[in-house]
Amino acid sequence: MATPTKSTLPSGVIDKLRVPLDAASSEQTEAGNYFVANYPPFSFWKPEHKDAVHAILNSPRPVDTNLGVYFHIPFCRKRCHFCYFRVYTDKNASEINAYLDAGIREFERYSRTSYLAGRKPQFVYFGGGTPSYLSIDQLRNLTDRMKDLFPWDETEEVAFEAEPGTLTEKKLEALREIGVTRLSLGIESFDDHILEVNGRAHRSKEAYRAIAFAKTLGFDQLNIDLIAGMMDETPDNWERCVRTAIEQEPDCVTIYQMEIPFNTTIYKEMKESGRVTAPVADWRTKRAWVDWAFDQFEAAGYTVSSAYTVVKNPETTKFVYRDSLWAGADLLSAGVASFGHFGGVHYQNQADVGPYMTEVDAGGLPIFRAYPTSHDERFIREFILQLKLGHTNRGYFRGKYGEDPALRFPDQFAGLAAEGYLRLEGDEILISREGLLQIDRLLHGFFLPQHRDARYT
Ligand code: SF4
Repeated sequence: MATPTKSTLPSGVIDKLRVPLDAASSEQTEAGNYFVANYPPFSFWKPEHKDAVHAILNSPRPVDTNLGVYFHIPFCRKRCHFCYFRVYTDKNASEINAYLDAGIREFERYSRTSYLAGRKPQFVYFGGGTPSYLSIDQLRNLTDRMKDLFPWDETEEVAFEAEPGTLTEKKLEALREIGVTRLSLGIESFDDHILEVNGRAHRSKEAYRAIAFAKTLGFDQLNIDLIAGMMDETPDNWERCVRTAIEQEPDCVTIYQMEIPFNTTIYKEMKESGRVTAPVADWRTKRAWVDWAFDQFEAAGYTVSSAYTVVKNPETTKFVYRDSLWAGADLLSAGVASFGHFGGVHYQNQADVGPYMTEVDAGGLPIFRAYPTSHDERFIREFILQLKLGHTNRGYFRGKYGEDPALRFPDQFAGLAAEGYLRLEGDEILISREGLLQIDRLLHGFFLPQHRDARYT
């Protein structure tokens, strides 16, 4: 088990971490969503569009579209102060079993539709919440029933999010036997003070133990999540965190820049005390910290593979869920508040467990809102999501959409090129490191006018 080591970095490198905080800066972190998860923004998805989902489900199955299956587990041991997801910390085993039964009934209904019947998922994803909150029996039962409905024998990736403190060696063995290939540990920080101040349930000891167990079991991929700029983060903390992550040698590391969406505990406290600025590092500092982290990972042999990820071996470490979704795959998404997509129609399920269970019990699909995208919106969606990879190809969009992004958005391309964020090499569209570090902010420039400044809620 590695322990954090004292810095041996040259001072110039450390200085890169010490960005002076300018109290008057427009880059202070304020409340709101920074991360662009999908397009068009969720605020445009409406209950009156639900019929579009049923229409596509009644249509013939597509011949050339990959299918993913997602299940949302909305239970956690404790609510983190920065969390904006729908999570429940008070459900007992029978309530959780009832929820899992409802999810299976949802999958059963989808399996009988003409659009989905007989299709096998290319990828499966368990997200939350905390999927690893489930017991071994619950996990085996859930996944056996899911496999009966949508078999995994052609599945390239089964991804599973886990909170370190919920993992035992036996549970990890069970996950491996079930078929999980990509285990993603929500570590966030290796510093116990940071974990405590930010309301995380686990501590670093549990993180080290979970990583060590997972490595002995030979998952295809071990990913760890980190967050740059949590409350009380300092350059020294962040440096230790990154160095520790490198010492742990995961296959993949995902680094988020801390955002404070409106429905977080941190935002509620800001509102009560009349504060506009969140008590976390400003955006310039967070970018500098991620930039520095990327440098360190590269020096250790990793490759930056998107705005948020570094991978040890880009040849073998794929992220099928991300890459397929960003190339227009269907996503059959079940569970409370989950987001799915069929043949150009986005949908989201009921966001509270009560209405969700009521709708499943009534025999229907628990869809709360939907959005049928236009050809143009699908083109923009794929284009902006693929920019997060740091590179995409004009020929791909000409072939698939009959449109060249560089010709469609000449002003945006020129503006980003002038700032040094983007350049063209033949058909390749390349995003610079500086561009990648703030890519979500830059993507809004490609939104249709009616979608600019919309909220991602
Ligand atoms: S573990 Fe994840 S989902 Fe659960 S409360 Fe924390 S941030 Fe939210």
